[in-house]
Amino acid sequence: MSRYLIRGARLLGKEVVDILTGDDTIEAVGADLPVPADAIIVHAAGLIALPGLVDPHTHLREPGREDSETVLTGSQAAAAGGYTCVNAMANTMPVQDTAGVVEQVLRLGREAGYVDVRPVGAVSAGLAGEHLAELGAMAESAAAVRYFSDDGACVADPVLMRRALEYAKSFGGVIAQHAQDPRLTEGAQMHEGEISAQLGLAGWPAVAEESIVARDCLLAQHVGSRVHILHLSTKGSVDLVRWAKSEGMPVTAEATPHHLALDHREACSYDPRFKVNPPLRTPADIEALRRGIVDGTIDVIGTDHAPHPAEDKDCEWSAGAHGMIGLETALSVVQQTLVDTGLITWSDVARLMSYTPAQLCQNPAQGRPIAVGEPANLCLHDPRATRMIRANAQHSKSANTPWEGRELPGRIMYTFYRGVPTVWDGQLRGREEIAAEREAW
Ligand SMILES: [Zn+2]
Repeated sequence: MSRYLIRGARLLGKEVVDILTGDDTIEAVGADLPVPADAIIVHAAGLIALPGLVDPHTHLREPGREDSETVLTGSQAAAAGGYTCVNAMANTMPVQDTAGVVEQVLRLGREAGYVDVRPVGAVSAGLAGEHLAELGAMAESAAAVRYFSDDGACVADPVLMRRALEYAKSFGGVIAQHAQDPRLTEGAQMHEGEISAQLGLAGWPAVAEESIVARDCLLAQHVGSRVHILHLSTKGSVDLVRWAKSEGMPVTAEATPHHLALDHREACSYDPRFKVNPPLRTPADIEALRRGIVDGTIDVIGTDHAPHPAEDKDCEWSAGAHGMIGLETALSVVQQTLVDTGLITWSDVARLMSYTPAQLCQNPAQGRPIAVGEPANLCLHDPRATRMIRANAQHSKSANTPWEGRELPGRIMYTFYRGVPTVWDGQLRGREEIAAEREAW
């Protein structure tokens, strides 16, 4: 393992500094640092230095659907996107609802060696929504799970949701809700509105999300336990969370890059790459989500990276699976929609995509400032670059990106995970190379 002297990066888009990495940690940060004889120089003029990104919401599909993604390929996609930690959702096969399965995912993540893979525990056994999963056993396991979700399915039963909040409270855990009333969305194919009517596709009403958001804010307040609302997609949801926070209710909320950028008119192509849960909404909803980010109603940006094999997406709209991949495009979409539009700064990006997700998901070694003695998890992003997105040039095992053939700004040039580069000069490094460097230290 080598020491790296990063020369002339813009720290959080502000002052120009040098950063010296050492054994897992940052050894020095400052202007014109002396060059140690053994250090490898990284020329970073014009690059933005950000803390390693932390995704609170990734689907890695292993165990069970290794044809879509594996812990290794998902970790590689994450590193390529500037991430040093992903929280892997529980809807695997078998479901991550026991100590054994979460420990298996933790171990696969360590073996892959590109990012911290933190398993998210299921709320209900088998995601069936009937009985609580073994939250305590997962919390006490080697994976030390503190973040739980049935994501992909809503915890629809209010009694089960109440019990989950009570149980998680006993050890400081957080329940993350996929807000979707299952009765109001039976057969739903896309956002319910004028486009769904034109296309003749069954609509997915905004109230199906908002009614659960309202209910769970009230339940969290009643129990005195934290709830986190995943992937807000409607103006009404943003307004409800803003109200709940103003009342002091213990709630946090997330938005995805695709809900900040794309609207329901994309469905007119009948291309299932734009089919996602919750669905793409209206331009007014996008506006509300962006405002929610600016005023702090929305706390984190999560990718909801959802890989699917070609046979589940190369089909007619109604047969297509819900979901999009997003780890390798997330920062570019955030740059395009929020930074280049002047709505937020790179410091806000660090908060929304690193510091706060790490706190929310209780990933202690992650989401730390770029400062002496902190873990050397960081990425260097070139905001001036542009790139044409091609699914076959991505590292995910699946190709279901909505950005295929579109240009996005920005590019990750370097990612450092625990002091070792996983991305070097815009290229993902090999697993053996990374492992050998770590061993040699
Ligand atoms: Zn979800």
